Amino acid sequence: MATIYLTFDDGPLAGTDDVIAVLQAKRAKGTLFMVGDHVMPGFRGDLLTAAHAGPYTSVANHSSTHGNRRYSEYYRNPTTVVAGFRRTTETLGISERPVRARLPGRNTWRVGNIVATDPTNGGDSGPAANGLAGDGYRVYGWDLEWPMERGRPAASADQIAARVRTSLSAGRTKKPGHLVLLAHDIMFRASNQDRQKLERLIDLLRGDGHDFAFISGFDGAAAG
Ligand SMILES: [Zn+2]
Repeated sequence: MATIYLTFDDGPLAGTDDVIAVLQAKRAKGTLFMVGDHVMPGFRGDLLTAAHAGPYTSVANHSSTHGNRRYSEYYRNPTTVVAGFRRTTETLGISERPVRARLPGRNTWRVGNIVATDPTNGGDSGPAANGLAGDGYRVYGWDLEWPMERGRPAASADQIAARVRTSLSAGRTKKPGHLVLLAHDIMFRASNQDRQKLERLIDLLRGDGHDFAFISGFDGAAAG
């Protein structure tokens, strides 16, 4: 029996409404790491509002620009990265402190004594992560990713449930008995009929006896 932290990155975008609807229907908590520049008036702004309003969704900070997907350049200037996160905390209307954040393109952690820096490009995201931590942010990577190809799930729900079991039993998570799962909103667009894959994963994990928590719950979770 473990606690699973479902996390969905890069919204608000197509698929965000489906993620919110599935979590609500299944009564499973999940955290949406959103990108500030993706918030616009109309549809996307409404998705942000819906994510705040729903009892099963929580909004966290995934940068202002996503580094425009040019990560080595982005991480060369940690001050700009931190400034972008600060701006995005306002854009996303996140009032809870500490602010929970995830760096674009890097599996880097700064959560209490959990300190890990993605080795990519010589650990280039380390200074930005330290800057955010110094600013009071908690930075979360992930234990397991539901892989994506061309915006669609590249593994079945059953395969992901099996990987969750293996990760937990092999002690391959940052904190024993707790697993942070990374997915992306866009993977579950109803138009691709992939939304039911998320529904199935939630059913499978629940069948294994796990429960679901917001990423904010990770901080206080006792080890073991
Ligand atoms: Zn992302």
